[in-house]
Amino acid sequence: MKSELSKLVELQKTDTRIRQLKNNIETAEERRATLEQEFEQHASSIREIQNTKKEAEEKKTDLENRIADAKTQLDRANRNLTTATDTKQYEAAMREIDALNKQVSGHETEILEQLEIIDETDKVLDERADEINNLESDWEKKLKDFEKELRSNKREYNKLTKEREAVFSDISPRLAAVYNRLITRSRDGIAVAEVKNSTCSACFMSLRKQMIVLLKTTDEILTCESCTRILYVDNSEEEQSEATAS
Ligand SMILES: [Zn+2]
Repeated sequence: MKSELSKLVELQKTDTRIRQLKNNIETAEERRATLEQEFEQHASSIREIQNTKKEAEEKKTDLENRIADAKTQLDRANRNLTTATDTKQYEAAMREIDALNKQVSGHETEILEQLEIIDETDKVLDERADEINNLESDWEKKLKDFEKELRSNKREYNKLTKEREAVFSDISPRLAAVYNRLITRSRDGIAVAEVKNSTCSACFMSLRKQMIVLLKTTDEILTCESCTRILYVDNSEEEQSEATAS
């Protein structure tokens, strides 16, 4: 038959896990929303680059059309120049040619600027190609994993809640009352604290040597002098670490 202490340790482990699962389930909506937000931000940062490239391409096409128009006008102005019959007509044609040439060279400079933007965005899109191609599928997988874990958390929660009842009913009423009092009082839900490195793992108080010896050699219910929680030493871990040391 199990000692009272080991039953309490089991109860505590169950309660700690239940608490963790409950928290996971309760925060699921919030955590899912955060994941969605992260994905949206990620996707929109990529869309932004793609849009910048698209805009530059559209501007470039527009400038090319303007150059074509200007060149048609230039042809006409050149014809006017050759057919000019007086100085006035000649000068007017020259002025038009001059203005159109300036327009063309201005547009050409602007095209170079747009080409630079296209090059830069292409480079970034190229570098991030894998990420962009897998964005949707990665996201779907992440969401699927999330839902899977949540379902498993809910199943485990239901199972442990039932098991907990059995463990709890097996503990003497006096200790059950002590346990309940400690657990409702503590913010972290710890009533039974493990001793690690001769310290109470709940309040981090160093324990007296005599207390450690008692904890290691008896199954008595001993409490921390500082936080009053029930203490225990995980002997299996002690033995393991001793075995590794020697
Ligand atoms: Zn303590």
